[in-house]
Amino acid sequence: MTVSQPIIVWFRQDLRIADNPALHHAAQSGRPIIPVFVLDDVTPGIWKAGGATRWWLHHSLTQLSDSLRQRGLSLLLRRGPGDVVIADLAEQVGAAELVWNRCYEPYAVDRDTRLKAALKGRVMATSFKAALLNEPWEVLTGQGTPYKVFTPYWRAALAVTAPDRPLPAPDRLLPWPGDLTGDALADWQLLPTKPDWAAGLRRAWSDGEGVGERAAAVRLAQFLSNGAANYALGRDVPGIDGTSRLSPHLHFGEISPRQIWNAAKMAGESVNETFKVQIDSFLREIGWREFSHSLLYHFPTLPERPLSASFEAFPWTRDDTSLAAWQRGQTGYPIVDAGMRQLWVTGWMHNRVRMIVGSLLVKHLLLPWQAGERWFWDTLVDADLANNAAGWQWIGGCGADAAPYFRVFNPVLQGQKFDPDGRYVRQWVPELKHMPDKYIHTPWTAPPVVLRGAGVTLGRDYPAPIIDHALGRQRALDAFATIRSSD
Ligand code: FAD
Repeated sequence: MTVSQPIIVWFRQDLRIADNPALHHAAQSGRPIIPVFVLDDVTPGIWKAGGATRWWLHHSLTQLSDSLRQRGLSLLLRRGPGDVVIADLAEQVGAAELVWNRCYEPYAVDRDTRLKAALKGRVMATSFKAALLNEPWEVLTGQGTPYKVFTPYWRAALAVTAPDRPLPAPDRLLPWPGDLTGDALADWQLLPTKPDWAAGLRRAWSDGEGVGERAAAVRLAQFLSNGAANYALGRDVPGIDGTSRLSPHLHFGEISPRQIWNAAKMAGESVNETFKVQIDSFLREIGWREFSHSLLYHFPTLPERPLSASFEAFPWTRDDTSLAAWQRGQTGYPIVDAGMRQLWVTGWMHNRVRMIVGSLLVKHLLLPWQAGERWFWDTLVDADLANNAAGWQWIGGCGADAAPYFRVFNPVLQGQKFDPDGRYVRQWVPELKHMPDKYIHTPWTAPPVVLRGAGVTLGRDYPAPIIDHALGRQRALDAFATIRSSD
């Protein structure tokens, strides 16, 4: 083997230059580098990227490709089953080494294992930890089993050595001089055209400028100097900018949890004890991300099957009309409709509201959590197999450390508590913008004169509630009783 044999860096969910262990390793190797991204929507078991994440991916790849070009490399784009495409490329260029950062989706684990086996003895394939602070197999109970409850999981995770300092971005990278043909990004048609439904995404994420490694770093810095100071309370208020909105950046690996951890800890230590408490509360959410990935790794059926086996027999209903009303933000519960419309327009929804809309779907409407999970998968820019599946199983009461099924969120009280002045509802449900605060979460209880004054005719401008809360709650509890009694 000569040093001129190339090393392939396979980019996946690590679309960044800084703190990228695979790229760092390649830079250190002294070998010429071939950076490649494979659009894979055919590997068995894969959850094909949804519409919103395809939009994000287009912009993220554009940014990554620019950053690599500035350092002398050209990002190769290919399409097909990841393991086959990469093995062919390694063969074609006579690669000496192949590196990537690990992913934890079941199909990705199988695919990467297959690839390593296929290349054994011919190409040295090495993978790195980059997407998580701790590998799923590094945080286990005393019995060596995975944690199913978050608090002890996080306590154990915090006891593992503190994350290292992030790796710097390499300055210049050695290109491979050979000729390679790849796809043009535009040919992948990741951006919607007919119809072009992405106007809201463009507005929300600065025409795509809000995507990518640079934007992620700016967002983290802004969050640490603004929202972080009041995070513990502010994170529950959807009408303010109280959370980091780093989720899509984290999903695509435009920023690493290690970078977040180090920057947040440094910021926490430089201010005062109160601020440090807020930072710890923020890092705890990063912990939920770690926990969800650990669950997906250890329980690979998490996206499809309830973790709690008794829920296999739950009497879910099928009701396409209610599902469509929920998807379109036409349930008649203002906080729910605001959330569903925020999701549709921007590709993102506030965490508190994700819980409220999820609860209405699986409890009041008795629709299976997988239906909500699918819709989120297609519409969220941060759609993430681990976080989405864990979130829905939590809401459905059938997951690890889940909200008990019998705890049914009251969408009115939730609205009144977390959006008391209706700011969030008014932003996303403009037909209610003139409703007085007193009725903003219960327009159906407003006297006719108030409705007239606000320009609202119920049933014409805005629907009556899709189901009465008390009735929905009781129906959910009755359904739950059927599986309890069969336990
Ligand atoms: P912040 O409050 O700033 O938190 C920082 C980071 O911590 C987030 O970016 C995220 O990576 C992580 N995080 C925060 N809360 C959670 C959580 N409850 N579980 C796991 N990680 C968390 N998150 C996704 O990234 N992708 C999803 O597909 C997804 N689907 C969800 C579905 C449901 C039903 C629910 C209830 C939650 C879901 N979440 C999902 C978790 C959470 O809602 C989002 O991560 C969060 O709202 C993102 O906003 P943020 O970046 O401003 O969060």
